Amino acid sequence: MRDRYGALSFTVNDWKEFLVQSKQSFKKRYYAKSPSDVSRDDFDILRTLGSGSFGRVLLARRKSDNHYFAIKVLDKAKVVKTKQVEHTLNEKQILQAVRCPFTVHLEQFFQDNLYLFFVLPLVVGGEMFTHLRKLGKFHESVTRFYAAQVILGLEYLHFLDLIYRDLKPENLLIDHIGYLKITDFGFCKILKKRTYTVCGTPEYLAPEIILRKGYGHSVDWWTLGVLIFEMAAGYPPFTAKDTMKLYEKIIACKYAFPSNFTSDVKDIIRNILQVDTSKRFGNLKGGADDIKHHKFFKSIQWLPLANKKLVSPFIPHVSGPSDVSNFQRCSEEPLQVSSQNKYAAEFADF
Ligand code: AMP
Repeated sequence: MRDRYGALSFTVNDWKEFLVQSKQSFKKRYYAKSPSDVSRDDFDILRTLGSGSFGRVLLARRKSDNHYFAIKVLDKAKVVKTKQVEHTLNEKQILQAVRCPFTVHLEQFFQDNLYLFFVLPLVVGGEMFTHLRKLGKFHESVTRFYAAQVILGLEYLHFLDLIYRDLKPENLLIDHIGYLKITDFGFCKILKKRTYTVCGTPEYLAPEIILRKGYGHSVDWWTLGVLIFEMAAGYPPFTAKDTMKLYEKIIACKYAFPSNFTSDVKDIIRNILQVDTSKRFGNLKGGADDIKHHKFFKSIQWLPLANKKLVSPFIPHVSGPSDVSNFQRCSEEPLQVSSQNKYAAEFADF
């Protein structure tokens, strides 16, 4: 079922049961190889919404039904040059397989000679980043409401054996009813055992990534701690002009709480920002439940939250499904065309 904003609605009767069922359907969709049934001609491209590490995201209208979408466009030459072919194919497989109230997913896809196109549901409220910078910081109740959704999103991804690796306010979009969706699965991957790749955003990197020790899901919980701090303070806990100094601070877990923090928010952050992964909340035997049951989240009703039944403390101003005024203006560059398909072999599986 979809609402007029094109958002899929989920009915979750039992969260744990939802996770178990999701795992089965995730596997099926992850390995499904269905050909694309659309092309660039099926969409009108209207403007640029944002840019990511390897491409940009465009606002588009599907000609057949006038529905609006966000289309992520990756430049094939750039993807090949930066050795991101496998990452990109993996991102597509993950996006086509996830179905969670708190993540975006792939609606359609196609490619032409120059670009790869991911058609995603349009999340109209803009990035959390924009709202956070505008407001300075969030009230603790807003921080709690957003953090709770991120916890469910991470719990969902981890249950599917996925590690996300790029949590930050820029990758959290706010929908028309004020709920979050995690976007940008460029660094997300299926985790078999441990992984060693250094990736993510410097301020959000967990100590075990910096120390190149090999890591697992623990890194996503660390980033949750950084995010909670940043939402409530307006700036991240670890900052430095020089990246090496930043990493030293992270490894030493050197940060200071602003005076306005309550003891509950301090306590949850302290328990998550633990350098020792065997002490880090989220990564213990109790998993995400240790965080969910912490007193900071006492007022959260988890099942109504999963069903988006709680009223969001912040509802973005949007006049309709195509109102993207919450997105900052970006430079517009027209898409190129080419009669030559130089990378047919690399993207045969897209
Ligand atoms: P990404 O490359 O996935 O990090 O996306 C770059 C930026 O494009 C994001 O930070 C958002 O501003 C925007 N964006 C990405 N996905 C969507 C979406 N589904 N709906 C609206 N905007 C999006």
